[in-house]
Amino acid sequence: ATPLMELRNVSKVYGGGVLSRTATVALDDVSLTIPGDSPQILSVVGESGSGKTTLASLLLGFISPTSGTVLYRGSDLSRLRGARLREFRRDVQAVFQDPFAVFNPFYKVDHVLTVPLQKFRLGRSKAERQELMVNALEAVGLRPDETLGRYPHQLSGGQRQRIIVARALMLRPKLIVADEPVSMVDASLRATILESLRTVNQTLKVPILYITHDLGTAYHVSDHIVVMYRGGIVEAGDVEDVITAPKHPYTRMLIDSIPWPDPRRRWGSEETGARNGVEVPEDHQGCRFAERCPAAMPRCTQAQPPTYLAASGHAVSCYLYDEKPTLPKERLSALL
Ligand code: SF4
Repeated sequence: ATPLMELRNVSKVYGGGVLSRTATVALDDVSLTIPGDSPQILSVVGESGSGKTTLASLLLGFISPTSGTVLYRGSDLSRLRGARLREFRRDVQAVFQDPFAVFNPFYKVDHVLTVPLQKFRLGRSKAERQELMVNALEAVGLRPDETLGRYPHQLSGGQRQRIIVARALMLRPKLIVADEPVSMVDASLRATILESLRTVNQTLKVPILYITHDLGTAYHVSDHIVVMYRGGIVEAGDVEDVITAPKHPYTRMLIDSIPWPDPRRRWGSEETGARNGVEVPEDHQGCRFAERCPAAMPRCTQAQPPTYLAASGHAVSCYLYDEKPTLPKERLSALL
């Protein structure tokens, strides 16, 4: 079946034009498929500068790739017009980091829910629209009588963020792209918001792409995981496999830095130490993690490692696993 969304060899470079001295490669030849027919949560994890937000913006059609193609149901997203573009705008919904950016302080929250209903001509009457709003609010665990008719400042950060999830839900999307949805809310509310995303995913069968810098929450909510580092995917697969048997030195470093409550989930910290003396030239063409990698070898600075299929069944881009068969990038999706 044609996947819902696909990135094919996508790169995104910011700057570098006539007026700019420097170009930043935010995404470097990334391929990823989101089938859309399996209601799962896929987490994309990476630190700032890893390219994860650029990846989300490309999937949402907010920006265009510098090279490569973003496909929606098999068609080049940048060429969509008219009814097909409207269909995409309804199918793929965003939930952002900052719910305040969506609310207008002078309008009651009803406004933020009514606008998309009117835009996509959903609900023939006021009563029907009201019913759609109520159902969506209840689906994310909010009481309509405590939310409708209020102004944004009368609600908690957690309620506001869940209203944004409800807003996305009303459109019956085929994919929700949630970019750091809990990074600006109180730690005590994070679990509730993530739980409502999980409920939406399981009860309404909406696939979710969860973008985060936080491996701990990714482990908590997702079925599959993609780990990014400096514009590229370094490891991908089933969340349990990746977290319990991480292969890439960067993933191990991330896991090491999490204060897991379960002592069995601790890995030795020897790999977070200094590098093993490999000279890494500044302009090298090799592995993007070579500068920080405690296991770097001379070959790591010569060419970008391909994607290998590790023994645990997940994909890893690292020369330490080169005894295993190489995966064509498109196959990555089969593992997710
Ligand atoms: Fe480290 Fe080399 Fe693997 Fe890159 S390819 S992660 S530098 S061992």
